[in-house]
Amino acid sequence: MINFLDLKTINHACRDELIRACTRVIDSGWYIGGNELQQFESSYAEYCGTKHCIGVANGLDALVLVIRAWKELGYLSEGDEVLVPSNTYIASILAISENGLTPVLVEPDLATFNMCPVQAENVITSKTKAILPVHLYGRLADMPALMSLAERHDLLVLEDSAQSHGASIDGQKAGNWGHASGFSFYPGKNLGALGDAGAITTNDDLLASTLRALRNYGSHEKYKNDYRGINSRLDEIQAAMLSVKLKYLDEQTNHRRKIADLYTKHINNPAITLPVASEFNSLENSSHVWHVYTVLCQDRDALQKHLLANNIQTLIHYPIPPHQQKAYSEMVKYSLPISEMIHSQILSLPIGPGLLLEEASMVVAACNSFQSNMT
Ligand SMILES: *Cc1c(COP(=O)(O)O)cnc(C)c1O
Repeated sequence: MINFLDLKTINHACRDELIRACTRVIDSGWYIGGNELQQFESSYAEYCGTKHCIGVANGLDALVLVIRAWKELGYLSEGDEVLVPSNTYIASILAISENGLTPVLVEPDLATFNMCPVQAENVITSKTKAILPVHLYGRLADMPALMSLAERHDLLVLEDSAQSHGASIDGQKAGNWGHASGFSFYPGKNLGALGDAGAITTNDDLLASTLRALRNYGSHEKYKNDYRGINSRLDEIQAAMLSVKLKYLDEQTNHRRKIADLYTKHINNPAITLPVASEFNSLENSSHVWHVYTVLCQDRDALQKHLLANNIQTLIHYPIPPHQQKAYSEMVKYSLPISEMIHSQILSLPIGPGLLLEEASMVVAACNSFQSNMT
């Protein structure tokens, strides 16, 4: 069986280093808020090119806490509208509603699956105060256009970079475009811990210090509470695991790009639509880090079955659009045809640093042998 993503193989490649790092933490006798966290925060900030990195417990908390901090600082209030892509993972939207703000769903650009800047501009009202672009599937959203839109309308920008560690446009990386960015280090992400972990990057000093307090009970100084904060800390063990894995991220991204390139060059089946190549989508250019490689197929369920019969595991990112989720029943009346089409046709092929190129060639062959009854 060719697995969609083989975490065991990925972590096995640096197993000895992970064990040494783990032992170092155990022997240090210090497990929360120590050197390991500081070291990871400073190397990840350097990696992203930002002034600050603040480790938190997971990617959802990273997004929730930035909006919470902007409320504490008086930049946002409950009831404000935040633009967010209609086809994102639910966490991006939860971060907005959790804070009592209103998510406004914006349809994606079909060529990139990312928020369309033109559609975003069309739904801006006097209540719109922020944009939450998501670099979905590993491809940077059109940040030059979205930042200029934000400037024209005086909006805050929070990037959801959970799927796009290291993606860049003109050398400027995910996490260093907006006023702040949330990252997830869930084990299956491009930079994955061995458990839950997340971080926020920003160049804003005041925001960074507010976030450092909010993640730790609202306290800048022990037993003195300035905010009603939460407990969302990145522990020493996970920070140490991430410092090891960060060293291999670029190499692993290059391997993902080789697989994506092989799929793009050799999958040649009229029933399967490949992700659109763009000026930012080549081995040389780096706006895409291929967290997942998604294809569209009108006969998606049959394609998935055919691949499984060929021992190839695939996943669907995502089967139900957010506005059709029970959790957001008030949105069920929305008509979002692009998003609905994507959710019914999308399929993610295996990709990852542990996938051999020979295995990727088998995926190509199986895709090319698929015969749809619908075409
Ligand atoms: C994974 C993910 C998150 C949430 O990260 P967790 O660490 O699981 O909380 C947020 N947004 C997107 C787009 C994601 O893929």
